[in-house]
Amino acid sequence: MSERIFIGVAWPYANGPLHLGHITGAYLPADIFARYHRLKGNKVLMVSGSDQHGAPITIRAEQESTTPQEIAAKYHQQFLEGWKKLGISFDLFTTTGTPNHTQVTHDIFLTLLDNGYIHKDKMLQAYCPKCQRFLPDRYVEGTCPYCGFTKARGDECDACGKPLSPVELKELRCYLCSTPPRFESSEHFFLRLSTFQDKLTAWIKEQTHWRRNVLSSTWKFLNERLRDRAITRDLDWGVTVPQPGCEHKRIYVWFEAVIGYLSASKEWAKSLGDDTAWQAFWRDDAKSFYFIGKDNIFFHTLIWPAILMGYGGLSLPYNVPANEFLTIEGRKLSTSRSWAIWLDDYLERYAPDALRYTLAVNMPETGDSDFSWREFLRRNNNELVATYGNLAHRVLTFSQRHFDGVVPAPGELDQYSLRLLHEAEVVFDGVDKLLYRCEFKGAVKEAMSLAQKANRYLDEQAPWKTIKAERSPDKIGTAKSVFTVLSVLAALKTIFYPFLPFSSEKLHSFLGFDGSVKESGWKIQFPPPGQKLRPPQPLFVKLDEDIITKESNRLGSLGDK
Ligand SMILES: [Zn+2]
Ligand SMILES: [Zn+2]
Repeated sequence: MSERIFIGVAWPYANGPLHLGHITGAYLPADIFARYHRLKGNKVLMVSGSDQHGAPITIRAEQESTTPQEIAAKYHQQFLEGWKKLGISFDLFTTTGTPNHTQVTHDIFLTLLDNGYIHKDKMLQAYCPKCQRFLPDRYVEGTCPYCGFTKARGDECDACGKPLSPVELKELRCYLCSTPPRFESSEHFFLRLSTFQDKLTAWIKEQTHWRRNVLSSTWKFLNERLRDRAITRDLDWGVTVPQPGCEHKRIYVWFEAVIGYLSASKEWAKSLGDDTAWQAFWRDDAKSFYFIGKDNIFFHTLIWPAILMGYGGLSLPYNVPANEFLTIEGRKLSTSRSWAIWLDDYLERYAPDALRYTLAVNMPETGDSDFSWREFLRRNNNELVATYGNLAHRVLTFSQRHFDGVVPAPGELDQYSLRLLHEAEVVFDGVDKLLYRCEFKGAVKEAMSLAQKANRYLDEQAPWKTIKAERSPDKIGTAKSVFTVLSVLAALKTIFYPFLPFSSEKLHSFLGFDGSVKESGWKIQFPPPGQKLRPPQPLFVKLDEDIITKESNRLGSLGDK
């Protein structure tokens, strides 16, 4: 039976380019999952968009003497190009700057207000006398009251991960000019998060299928008890507050960005010409998955569910498979020190599938993982090129030369060949189960193990030797091994498709199939004898050893993007 799968992916701040931390944290796993479910014939809606609001964008605009609109538009365009080149297949990638998003946010705000889940209260907001402005939370720096980290920001401590508010910090200073800010009282709207404590606790208890790291950090927040949180700020950039006297207030980003999942679903429905099409993905018979980095867990396992509970009638997250962090060459990724690998920069020199593979096989699902150029080279050259690509190339060119470019009729298959074909089915089922459970790292390793087994089989069968001894015109002794490997390749192009969409489509065509992998579905499709093969090209490109030095020298030297 076909399932309905909603996939929400973290909203990137439109204040800088994408790097590998973003890609492996949320976008790649989401895309693998979406491609897999689409192949299975399930109905998938995958949405996200650029987060156009928030302090980082206004500050960046000031630094570059331009407007927040222009900064947001520039990076939104870059994101769209990045998704296309890397093959991240959103059904809609929008922005939080649309009238639709404002309307949906207002609807939620007003409904929560009516239902008594939002109230007004006074709060202290930091004001920098030198900069002459209210400081957004993340531009207040100070010492974390929990762990003593001296560079904690007013919204969160980078060292211990606790969400903070500026008044909690000690030894405060303005992030922009280092002057100690003063606090001024201002009236704001608060989400009554505390009233959801029991409901959220009961709901989280049921989520036994979640990743252990996601559960443990969610329990940490619950055990410390949830506090009401201000959801408006004194700002001029952001979604307006639909209440009188609030002309210079805006809805705070963490409240409205998560609402983007719903507003994007509605926008997608409108674009189809069916305003109600989104509803099927927000009912309880649909499953919703939220792909995010671990720094966003709080907002997706507690705040967003609280908003949804308060609003009513919409399904809560089914799973939040948050990833841990990616380090680069053993060091913490840092955009301000340019210790990062930028997606657009990578794509200028290397293929998308090589990156997708390297990141997937090392995905930080249960703990942080590291990206190094040496490992990238090794994965590309030893696994993609030497194992998988070479297997395909050897057999496809051999078939062109000795079997007139068609899939040969194998006659009766021997034990070895049958065993390998059976193995293809076992791997296919294994990968299916792993992908269903969002275990991407395990799934891609399993897929590569089939290519390794097929390589061993090919070396043992050695068709390039048996062909010399062939007496019969149908070359039946050699045909069986060629047919068997072509069949395994046909399984591999499907199994690898969620990870390596570009090379899978190529291989699909070389094997003589029409249409696309995407259209042929999640099933093993052995090529029928007599099927005309297409002249092959290498699936992957071997890289030179010297890229390690070249790329390591670039790291940290590109300047702050
Ligand atoms: Zn200042
Ligand atoms: Zn801390």
